[in-house]
Amino acid sequence: MADYIPELAKAEPDYLGVAICTTTGHVYSAGDAEVEFTLQSVSKPFAYALALQELGLDAVREIVGMEPSGEAFNELSLNRYDHRPVNPMINAGAIAVTQLINGVDSDPAERVEQLRSYFSRLAGRELKIDEKVRDSELQVSDRNLSLAHMLRNYDIIQDEAHDAVSTYVEQCSIKVTVRDLAVMSATLANGGTQPVTGEKILDADVCRLTLSVMSSAGMYDGAGRWMAEVGIPAKSGVSGGLLGTLPGQLGVATFSPRLNKEGNSVRGVDALTLLSKDMGLHLMSTDERYGVHPVRRMETEDDLTVIFLQGLINFNAAETILHQLTECEFGEGTVVLELSHITGSNRMGRRMLKEGLRRIREAGFDIAIVDPDGELEDRTMADGTEVPKGEPEDYALSEEAV
Ligand code: GLU
Repeated sequence: MADYIPELAKAEPDYLGVAICTTTGHVYSAGDAEVEFTLQSVSKPFAYALALQELGLDAVREIVGMEPSGEAFNELSLNRYDHRPVNPMINAGAIAVTQLINGVDSDPAERVEQLRSYFSRLAGRELKIDEKVRDSELQVSDRNLSLAHMLRNYDIIQDEAHDAVSTYVEQCSIKVTVRDLAVMSATLANGGTQPVTGEKILDADVCRLTLSVMSSAGMYDGAGRWMAEVGIPAKSGVSGGLLGTLPGQLGVATFSPRLNKEGNSVRGVDALTLLSKDMGLHLMSTDERYGVHPVRRMETEDDLTVIFLQGLINFNAAETILHQLTECEFGEGTVVLELSHITGSNRMGRRMLKEGLRRIREAGFDIAIVDPDGELEDRTMADGTEVPKGEPEDYALSEEAV
């Protein structure tokens, strides 16, 4: 177990808790799921997200990079050319990021409160700081203090080194359970909306950036192998916490205090490895887990062709649909896209559907969409005209469509 912070060495080594929270806000847990432990480095991606939310990427990028370091978490390292810490997941980067919260001129106590209340919103309950762990770490902070001095030397931070480290250590000492962690992680997976309380806390762009950095630098010096073997963007902490985030799907968290030589929870790593394998969660998996074929079915009656779509209409789905349409020999008459069964769409998917319809019209057909949920809110096509809208009943050629 981590023993460089004396209070952490006193933890019960046998604890083991696991929790999962889906982006729909369903939480499942097992084992020691109600035991509280300190966030430690698991706080880093969230603090980074808050800095991005408050200041935007350009300002944050001035003080911290986005490259994997492949080094130990407390390495005394800054980028050789501009002296920025290489990423926000190592201590140098995290200390720099914490000093941005609540504005660079913020009083340290207000900064800490801003962080504590933000972490509480992410967890959906009031979180407290473990004062014993905090005080214990402050007694042994020479290395982090040297990082802070180095950061001040290069004007990356303005706070006194002692203030900078104590703010950072307070952030690390916030207490959570694995259930909290899973929900916090699911908030990142869910584009910033806390899936249990429904509160919008972060922008989707901020979550995307945070998860990207987590995926390349979240697992200390084992980050590359972790992505290859487990394939879930993750962040671990020396108290034994580990969280993983699958964008658009779920947050998962484990807690077990014994660490491997890279500083990651031994049983946490085993648990996530197993879950990834058993549940098919690897982000780089090329299995067909993106689900259904986007064309549910096509029906033709006289001079009417209705194409029933389904699932998520993104670039890939729209390409499949349009490709299929180019291979169809319609007679003449009307071609209708039926969207009643789609689960969502992105901008590119919508743009491509509209362009497909425009070209079908150009080829001499009448066109329409059935869109009861208003997914295609803006029906204006590239030539400035609108896609006509029809009612489901008008084009329900078979029973199932209604
Ligand atoms: N507060 C700890 C430190 O800075 C966090 C380290 C970690 O969890 O990696 O040493």
